[in-house]
Amino acid sequence: MTHDVIVVGGSYAGMAAALQLLRARRKVLVIDAGLRRNRFASHSHGFIGQDGIDPAEIARSARAQLMRYPTLTWVEGTAHTAEGARDDFAVGTDTGVTHRGRRLLFATGVRDILPDIPGLAERWGRSVFHCPYCHGYELDQGEIGVIATGPMSVHQAQLLPEWGRVTFLLNGTEGPDAEARRMLETRGVTIEEGPITGLSGTADVTLADGRRLGFAGLFTASTTRPATPLAEQMGCETTENAMGRMIRTNEAKESSVPGVFACGDVARMPHSVSLAVGDGAWAGAQIHRSLVWPDG
Ligand code: FAD
Ligand code: MG
Repeated sequence: MTHDVIVVGGSYAGMAAALQLLRARRKVLVIDAGLRRNRFASHSHGFIGQDGIDPAEIARSARAQLMRYPTLTWVEGTAHTAEGARDDFAVGTDTGVTHRGRRLLFATGVRDILPDIPGLAERWGRSVFHCPYCHGYELDQGEIGVIATGPMSVHQAQLLPEWGRVTFLLNGTEGPDAEARRMLETRGVTIEEGPITGLSGTADVTLADGRRLGFAGLFTASTTRPATPLAEQMGCETTENAMGRMIRTNEAKESSVPGVFACGDVARMPHSVSLAVGDGAWAGAQIHRSLVWPDG
């Protein structure tokens, strides 16, 4: 069977796109490996109607609603290969099955490359975050540490005093220029220049000089990469944003390869559940449009 659309990645963006297509009675195949980017966090914030809910629960109830549509096929697994051209794409999964579809949508999300600091990865999504709108409020205006990774970190350190008292931990990086330092000073931010040797407790930072600083929470700017290389292997062009690499799309969320679309974190910036859902809903309608009017 040839599906109208194969969606690789069945999280917020992919499901939002699939829902529009299913409601147009199109045949949709969703292939999902189940590794949402926010799987490390127990609460999701900032998405109306779902504020403070377990992000797994948001995904679970969305999937239950999708499953009511008879033209949906859902495969739990990983897409390993993708090839073909518009109207005839083939996607192979880890179980060795090949699926065919007329359009292809990458809603695969991104993976976070974290600073290599002992104890940081274990605290990601629990007491180490990247998005102040998602996790700043819960820190109760307490002590906040920002661990520098690059230019985005200066921006984080300048913004975060909205949520608490900020210490900017340069961790041996070059740090802010004179103008940025002046703004940080105006915002009451303390700067610690020295290297960090590790994290412990909830969000305690040990510096190379032996001091241990306690925080309510830490922020750091991760670098992001598409969660799978499949789109790039198909020739989809990418572009750099402030956090890393993403798939370049036009206003209809179509990539540089005709018939291949992308939405959610992997194809937009900034990143959140609500923005991924909006991006996916738009992509779903645009893909439907491309099936109805193939010549634009
Ligand atoms: P994802 O949710 O990352 O989903 C991508 C899906 O594609 C996954 O299921 C993955 O397994 C699948 N996939 C990838 N490759 C393949 C493949 N080859 N084959 C099959 N399936 C594949 N946002 C908020 O709005 N509020 C918050 O509180 C919040 N907290 C966060 C906490 C943390 C720690 C992090 C890292 C992020 C947080 N975010 C939050 C951001 C949010 O997680 C993302 O914006 C959102 O998940 C993006 O949705 P998406 O559908 O684009 O991608
Ligand atoms: Mg998705």
